[in-house]
Amino acid sequence: MTECLFCRIVSGEIPAEVVATSEHALAFRDINPTAPTHVLVIPTRHVVDIPTLAQAPTELADLVALGARVAASEGLDDGYRLVANTGRAGGQVVFHAHLHVIGGRRMGWPPG
Ligand code: 5GP
Ligand code: ZN
Repeated sequence: MTECLFCRIVSGEIPAEVVATSEHALAFRDINPTAPTHVLVIPTRHVVDIPTLAQAPTELADLVALGARVAASEGLDDGYRLVANTGRAGGQVVFHAHLHVIGGRRMGWPPG
């Protein structure tokens, strides 16, 4: 049995509110949303981070496209934030690659 939290969500062992799927990716709501829309988009295959996923360009493109599809279905027509926290110092806590799709409020910079 895998100890990876997101692999356990992919397998259905841990429940999540799935909002969309694609050939290589799964999108579900973040358990601790930081904005009205906060969805995580993950590859169904275990890969530690987004740069590693870039070794499989088809899967990376599928992931980003699913993020865009989720943003559209959530009505984020004015824009949204796509975030890939990478490594501990980058704020990554779950070491299964994921994009955060965050929107529904005005995003400032630096992030907050
Ligand atoms: P990271 O900091 O690794 O980029 O983001 C991990 C995200 O996973 C966090 O925003 C956190 O709220 C979310 N998260 C952690 N555990 C769970 C869970 O069990 N279910 C869901 N849906 N999200 C989770
Ligand atoms: Zn995993």
